[in-house]
Formats: sequence, C-alpha cells, structure tokens
Amino acid sequence: MLHYQIEFDDYRQHLIHVTARFLADPTQVLSLPTWIPGSYLIREFSKHIESVRAYDEDGRVLQIQKFEKNKWRLFNTDHELITVEYDVYAYDLSVRGAYVDQNRLYVNPACACLGLDGQEGKAVEVEVFLPKELRHFQLATGLKSKTLVKGRYTLYADSYAQLIDSPFELADQSRFSFEANGIPHEFVVSGKHAMNAQRMQQDIEKICSTEISMFGSAPFKDYTFMTMATGNSYGGLEHPNSTSLITPRDDLPKANEPEQPSKDYQRFLGLCSHEYFHSWLVKFIRPENFVNYDLNKEGYTSLLWIFEGFTSYYDDLILLRSGVINQDAYLSLLKAQIDRYLQNPGRLVQSVSESSFDAWVKFYRQDENSNNAGTSYYNKGCLVALCLDLGLRLRGSSLDALMRKLYENAQNGIQVNERTIFNLCNELTGDDWLEQINHLINTTDELPLDQLFPEFGVSFTLKNDKSLPLGLKLADKPEGVLVQSARRDGAGTNAGLSANDVIVAIDGLKATVKLVEQYAKLEGTYSVYAFRRDEFMQFEVQSAGSELAEVELKIEDQVKAEKWLTA
Ligand SMILES: [Zn+2]
Repeated sequence: MLHYQIEFDDYRQHLIHVTARFLADPTQVLSLPTWIPGSYLIREFSKHIESVRAYDEDGRVLQIQKFEKNKWRLFNTDHELITVEYDVYAYDLSVRGAYVDQNRLYVNPACACLGLDGQEGKAVEVEVFLPKELRHFQLATGLKSKTLVKGRYTLYADSYAQLIDSPFELADQSRFSFEANGIPHEFVVSGKHAMNAQRMQQDIEKICSTEISMFGSAPFKDYTFMTMATGNSYGGLEHPNSTSLITPRDDLPKANEPEQPSKDYQRFLGLCSHEYFHSWLVKFIRPENFVNYDLNKEGYTSLLWIFEGFTSYYDDLILLRSGVINQDAYLSLLKAQIDRYLQNPGRLVQSVSESSFDAWVKFYRQDENSNNAGTSYYNKGCLVALCLDLGLRLRGSSLDALMRKLYENAQNGIQVNERTIFNLCNELTGDDWLEQINHLINTTDELPLDQLFPEFGVSFTLKNDKSLPLGLKLADKPEGVLVQSARRDGAGTNAGLSANDVIVAIDGLKATVKLVEQYAKLEGTYSVYAFRRDEFMQFEVQSAGSELAEVELKIEDQVKAEKWLTA
C-alpha cells in the first residue's frame, strides 16, 4: 500500500505539505502527471512542487535526484520503507488545480501526489490533517473516506489512477443528499452564495434520474457534485463518480427562481447535466487509447467530437427531457449553438476531427486567430450529434440507442475507435453511413441542418440581421477602441488593421465603437488611425461589414417534432 499524509498548516502561504511513505523498488522513480484527464493541455503541475527530500527507515537523509521536469529518482532503495516529503504551492482556483486558503482546501491529487513508477496498481491511503482552527471544515470527495477524529480523515483509492481522478474539498459547505434511481448523491456548494437549495435539489434529481434512465444503469455506486461559487469564474471537470464545478454565484437558483429557470440558472443546470453525462461518456466509455492514460505526454484522439460534442448535445436536451426547462427554452439554447457555429469562419478551415486531434495546441490555446482558423469540437460536435440523431430517427433508430450500444460495449471491455460510430450506425439501421459521417466529421462542408429539420416539423430559416463593423470585434477601452479579433475576409483586415490594434481616430474624430459602427455603414473610403504596439499607423478603409448569419427555428408541426424531442 502507498500512503500519503497531507497537512495544511501553511494554508496562509497556500502551501500543502505532503509526506509519501512506501516500499521502494530498486532505483525507484517518482513522477507527477503533466496533465489531468478531461483537460487537454500540458499543465506542468510539477512547477509547484518545492523542497523534495527523502529519508530511510531510520530517518537518515537519502539522495533523491530530479532528472526530468516531472520525475525524481531514488538510488539503492530495494524494498526499503522510504519517506519522501515536499511542499506544493496551491493557489489555482480552477477545477484542475489545488487551492488552499483560510476558507477552502481543495486538492486534485494529480497536482499534489507524486506517483511511484511501477507501483501504479497499488491501493492508496491518504491521511488528511486539518489545522486546529479549520477543524470545523466538512469533507467532499468521490473517494471512500473515514473520519478518524474531528479534522482528521482517511481517504481510500484502489489505484493511483483512481486517486488522481478524484479531487477532494474541505470547506464550510452547504450540502444536501438525495437518491436518483436508488443511487445516493451528494450536492455540495462552497464559497459565498445564497442558493435556493430546495429548488436545486428538485431540478438536479430530475436531471440525474433522466440520465440514468436513458442509459439503463449508472457506472458508479454513489456520486458527488462539488461546486465552488465565485464572482464570475466558470468551469467543470468530470471524474468517474464526482464532478468539480466552478460557477458565478448568480447562476445558482434564487429564492424566487421562476418556474422557467433564468438564463443564468439554465447555464448552471447545463453544466451539471454536462459533467454528469461524462460519467458515462469519457469516464466509462472511452477512446481506446484513453483506457490507460500516459500522463507524461499528450494523449491524442481525433474523437473529442464524440466525447465532448455528444455530451454537449445531451446536456441541454436532458434539461428538456427531465422537464427542468420547456421546449421554447430548449430551442433557444439550440439556436444559440447553431448561431455560434454559423458565425465562426474557422468552420470552413478546420474539420471537427482535426479540431479534436489538435485540442492540445489549438482549442486549449486560443488566440486572436482561433476564430478564423479553428472549429470547436464542443460546438460542431454537438451539431454533428444532432444531425446523427435526426438521421438515425428518420431510419427508425436514435442517438439514444447508439449511446446505449456504446455503454453496453464498454461494459464488455470494448472501447471507442475511429470506426465505432460508423459501425454502430450501420448496425442500428442496416444502412451504410460511411459517406454521411465522413462528410460531417472530416470535411468543412456545411452541416445538412436545413434538410433534416423540416423532416421533424421544424422550420430552419437563415437570416443576416447583424453584422460586424468592418469584420472587427471591438471593445471600448480608456486608450481607444481595441480590436479583439479581425475576420480574415473583413474590410478591416483588407485595409491592414489587425487584432490587438487600438483605433484612436476615424476621419479626424476620436474613435468609439459606436463611431466605427457608423462609418462601417457609410459608402466610400476614409482614414482610420490606430496604434499597433507603440507605433502610430494610418489605414485607408473601404466600408463594409461582415454579415453574421443567424438561424430561426420554429416548430411548425408539434407531432413531428416530438419524434425528435422525446426520448
Ligand atoms: Zn465536457
């Protein structure tokens, strides 16, 4: 067994003190993941590890040498009981990191617990010690746990992989428990907030039981939602039987929350629904090469359009099916998703499978060029799922049936590869789907939404009501008008303007976003003055906006629409 002791006495300095005790292999190597499953960016968690030291059984200092960015080596340690101690700087509020201060102790073991190469399969015990003044904190985690005395807990994991995929939080928490389809759930919120817990419970119960019912069973025996309420941070990370969420406190349900949830609360419900769905899709049903992660380097997959895209399709659809939102609210969420797709010029440059593969260097590293050159596997993946669902339903099946097949396969140890979706669609309908699916995922051709929607009694109308002035996304700043991004086909780009330029004057007048908008509608050419870095530049601009396409979805035939919208 591998044993960790975690102490938080230096929480004011945002330090976690970790002591690992284990029987070492000869020339034992210790390492820390460079990334955390579910978040596809090399995070270099080892940058926050400080003062690593090692001792033998008698407390004598041993040599421990760092030999790679995230790896340490011990020498001549055959089967000796070794102690390795170090500190971890923990002041990252995100769902991926570790954060400690006087209000909250939050740890993703992926960034705090060094693993032992060759001993990954061993059971793990983590003892957590709270300083006296924080002993009133409550514990939330998906791991099995035991309270020894107040302020001292033991957490258990079957393996290192389970440990690093199970965050835990100690804080003053608001919490409630409930059962969904007989499975115990915990819902935990920390941070300042005024959540209407009764409403939250009523809605989350419906969401959970709708998802379990859709798949027929759950891949977990218990589940914990851990939510941190903040001013405006947003995010979520899925784990096998828990999720870590961070949300603006205004997104939590209010005391007087209307029957149809506010847009803010819908966003939080969608986040819960999304991360919960991942317990099936990506934690249990996985890409073949994610069965055992190599956390030392990027884990490439061209299938995130399934794992994130399908999840993004179901997150809102489940809100409708569980009765938490109504049909109009669902259609406006879907409209927003389609508008995002239509207004992203990068959809004509990058396919959704390329976008999946390049998540590590593109999607997770957005810059001023991302919109021109990239597509989102969340956004387009969601619409690919919609096209597949509608297409399958036209042939007497559904994406639900496909999801159940994926789940059944995973239960039999068969995971997802490049051919799985083609094969399952063929199996479900008897038709050959190769060309259609290839079109959806490997090309940048437009999606066939305009052909599919009318089959389900929904009219799909494109409009160009809005336009971007000169093809520029602009923001008023004290120093002038900041160009946040510039479309490649826009009048601004054609004149030489670029993202990050600060426009200070047009035609002799002080620039504001409003003024740029006015000029963009005029005929003819005029001068635009801007700073690029600290250099003053002049541009001759020919007016024109870039039209922004928008869709109008309207149910014309309710009976037909229900063939899609009901499970
Ligand atoms: Zn996701």
